[in-house]
Amino acid sequence: MAKKITVIGTGYVGLISAVGLADFGHTVIGVDIAQTVVDKLNNGQPHIFETGLRDYLQKNLNSGRLKFSTGIADAVQASEVVFISVGTPPNQDGSADLSQLMRVVEEIKQNISGYKVVVIKSTVPVGTNRTVFKLFKTNGCDVDVVSNPEFLREGKAIQDFFHPDRIILGVESERARAVMEDIYRSLYLIQTPCVWCNLETAELIKYCSNAFLANKITFINQMANLADAVGADIHDIAKAMGMDGRISSKFLHPGPGFGGSCFPKDIKALVTMGEKHDVDMSLVREVIHANEAQKQLMIKKLALMLGELKDKTIAVLGLAFKAETDDVRESPAITIVTGLLKEGCRISAHDPVAMQNFSRLFPDLKFCRDEYEALQKADALIICTEWNEYRNLDLEKAKLTMKGNIILDTRNLLNRERARELGFTYKGMGR
Ligand code: NAD
Repeated sequence: MAKKITVIGTGYVGLISAVGLADFGHTVIGVDIAQTVVDKLNNGQPHIFETGLRDYLQKNLNSGRLKFSTGIADAVQASEVVFISVGTPPNQDGSADLSQLMRVVEEIKQNISGYKVVVIKSTVPVGTNRTVFKLFKTNGCDVDVVSNPEFLREGKAIQDFFHPDRIILGVESERARAVMEDIYRSLYLIQTPCVWCNLETAELIKYCSNAFLANKITFINQMANLADAVGADIHDIAKAMGMDGRISSKFLHPGPGFGGSCFPKDIKALVTMGEKHDVDMSLVREVIHANEAQKQLMIKKLALMLGELKDKTIAVLGLAFKAETDDVRESPAITIVTGLLKEGCRISAHDPVAMQNFSRLFPDLKFCRDEYEALQKADALIICTEWNEYRNLDLEKAKLTMKGNIILDTRNLLNRERARELGFTYKGMGR
C-alpha cells in the first residue's frame, strides 16, 4: 500500500530517496532547512549533480506525489513514515557529529500524533537508533525506529536506488516490518535481497562495508606503489587477483587515495567506536594513515618528475573525489592542490562539474573552461579524477599546448605508450 512519507534532509542521500520513493508510488515531502535548496527542487532543478536525477525529479514533481518544503512540523504531521537523512559529519576527534540528527529527532518528537515509523538513513554510530527510540518512548510517542543505512554510490545513485545489491533493515517490531515491506515492495518485485536484523547489526553493517572497501582500495594502492618500485604491472596483478572469486575484481583500481563524504569519516567513526568499547581497530586506523600518505605521495611523485615544484605551472584535471559527481568532500585533489600551492606552484584546474564546489575552498584558483585551457603553458599535468572525457584526452594537442612534458596520471587513464611516443615523461600508478 502506498505510504505518506517525509524525508528530512535532501542532500545526496535524502534527495535520491525522496525522488525514488515517489517513483515507487508513495506520496513524499522532502524537507530541508535550506530555503534555496527547497525552492530549486520545487522548480525541478537539482542542487547536486547526479546522472538522471533531473528527469526523475521533474517526472515525480509533475505526478503530484513529490514536493519539497522547509516546514518539518506540517510534513511530519501529514506522514506515516519519516526518513532522516541529514549529515553526520566528523567531529574533531573523528567521532560522528550527531547534532543535525538530534535536532531533527527533537522536532519530530514535538510533532508526533498517532503511530509513526522513523527510519534513520543517515550513517550513525552503533547504538544511535536505540537511543533515538528510547528518546521517543520516554516522551510517550507511539513510534518504531528502523535503521535503514544507505549504500548508494555518488555518480550512480539513481541506478543504485532502483537496483540496490541489498536492503538492510534493522527492525524490531512486526508493525514496522509490515510498513517497510510496503515501502520497498517495488524492490521485492525485482527480488532485491533484504537483510532483516536488529538495530545494532544494521548500523554496524554500514560501517563494516565501508571500512572493508576502504581497506581494499588502500591495499591495492600500496601494492601499486610496490609494483612501481619492482617493475611489475598492477593492472595485470589486479586482473589476476580479481579472477579469484573470493577476492572479486571490484575496488582493485589504484589511485591517489580515496575521498568522499563517507569512507574517510566512517572509518574514523569506526575507530572511535572501537576505542569506546576497548576493541582493537588497528587495521582500520592504519587505513586512515595509509590513505593520507597516498595523497601526499602524489605530490612527492610530481616533485620527483619535475625536479623542483617552485614556480611550476601545473594543470590539475579532476577535482571531484571520483567521476560522475560534483562532490569534492575529502577529495584527494584538495590535498594535492593544497600541497602544490604550498610548494609555490601555479595551478590551472578543470573538472566537468565540480569546479563550483571546489571554488568555495579555493576561491583564487584558476579554473578553466576545458582541459586544453588548463594545459596552456603547463609544465606538468596531473590527473586526479577518472572522468571519461580525460580518458580521451588528445595527447598530440596536449603536447602542443603544454610547455613541459610531464604527466602524472594517478588514475591510469591515458594511453601510456602513446604518451611516451609523443615525448611525454609519463607516470601512472603501479605500471
Ligand atoms: P548532505 O550534507 O549532502 O545532505 C544533508 C542535508 O540535510 C543538507 O541538504 C542539509 O541542509 C539538510 N539538513 C541538515 N539539518 C537539517 C534539519 N534540521 N532539517 C532539515 N534538513 C536538514 O549529506 P549526504 O551526503 O546526503 O549524507 C547524509 C547521510 O547519509 C550521512 O550520514 C552520510 O554519511 C550518509 N550516506 C551518504 C552517502 C553519500 O554518498 N553521500 C552514501 C551513504 C550514506
